[in-house]
Amino acid sequence: MSNKKAFNFKRQSRHKLNLLIPEHIRSIPPYTAGKPIEEVEREYGISNVAKLASNENPLGTSPLAIQAVMETVSGLHRYPDSNGHALINKISQHLGTGSDNVVLGNGSDEIIGMLTRVLLKPGDEVIFPKPAFPMYEISVRIVGAIPVTVPLKSYHTDLQGILEKITSKTRLVFINNPHNPTGSIITKSEFEHFLSQVSGTVAIVVDEAYIEFVKDETCLNSLEYLDAKSCVVSLRTFSKAYGLAGLRVGYGIMPSALAELMNRIREPFNVNVPAQAAALAAMDDPLFLQKTIDHVHFELDFYYRSLDKIGIAYFPTHTNFFLVDVKRDSQKVFCDLLKEGVIVRSMVSYGYPMFLRINVGSHEENVKCINALERVLVEAKTI
Ligand SMILES: *Cc1c(COP(=O)(O)O)cnc(C)c1O
Repeated sequence: MSNKKAFNFKRQSRHKLNLLIPEHIRSIPPYTAGKPIEEVEREYGISNVAKLASNENPLGTSPLAIQAVMETVSGLHRYPDSNGHALINKISQHLGTGSDNVVLGNGSDEIIGMLTRVLLKPGDEVIFPKPAFPMYEISVRIVGAIPVTVPLKSYHTDLQGILEKITSKTRLVFINNPHNPTGSIITKSEFEHFLSQVSGTVAIVVDEAYIEFVKDETCLNSLEYLDAKSCVVSLRTFSKAYGLAGLRVGYGIMPSALAELMNRIREPFNVNVPAQAAALAAMDDPLFLQKTIDHVHFELDFYYRSLDKIGIAYFPTHTNFFLVDVKRDSQKVFCDLLKEGVIVRSMVSYGYPMFLRINVGSHEENVKCINALERVLVEAKTI
């Protein structure tokens, strides 16, 4: 088929769908990803765009991981190891868990989806904070279960509020520590009080996508509750501090009986060959990880000092991203920043119409972002 025909076919297929799509699918909110650099460069005819919108690693990827990916190319005709044997062993040794506690995913996004498919039937209830990472709601709706949200309390996860929403239909709770998008943490003692009150029939999933960045010693580490009476599942990822977002590797740590069920529904080859190799190599490069963490904290200080100086309010964070209060329509500020070659995230869709979320980039990118933000807000007479 010629390209042109393929194009026409695509256009026709957009005509009204006469299918009876289930209501729980129609109700799924579309996921909005961070705007890609190429798109902004194309639309505005600019180059050197700084993307500070998806909480990616500001230092790139470990050179060891890049090397490992290169070395896989001669074997790409082979399927990956379906059991992810080497990677699971390495993760479980690193964390001090059993290898039968670890389930690998094509990003932790996939683990979130697998958990909803294993644990839920239509009509079951799932509780999570609002706002939160959009994949919780999307995955819950896909299986016809019912999302029940609990507003954050002073930008923190309201564990008491979650307890109060638990009913006989609740099967699952998602919490996110540190929380995206606010950067707040849950303390160990807050979590222990919560856990002591939760019924054993409710799975508690703690999404720790940013846990590597936390310095506060009172912070919850959910791995400590793997053997608790309640089922506690920890989610971790190679996408952020390990710099492998483009390869998609995440994992869940959970009681082995649940891991066994997860593996039954898992696509057999869900984590591809370069991804497994890169994750293994990334774990052999603790120096890169430490450099990333140090860079993030150093640059957060730079952001805070600069924002204090120009008089823009922000929320101190435990992660590699933070919220700023621009005191006006943040969608507008987002667009103005695009023209300056800086991609951040407007928090309109998270219910914070005047907030932007910015993640730490390279020092040059951070300087560019601060300068652009100051220009845009001075022009708008906000500061
Ligand atoms: C980035 C992120 C993830 C990780 O997603 P991957 O699929 O592993 O890339 C999970 N949860 C939250 C809250 C995140 O921000």
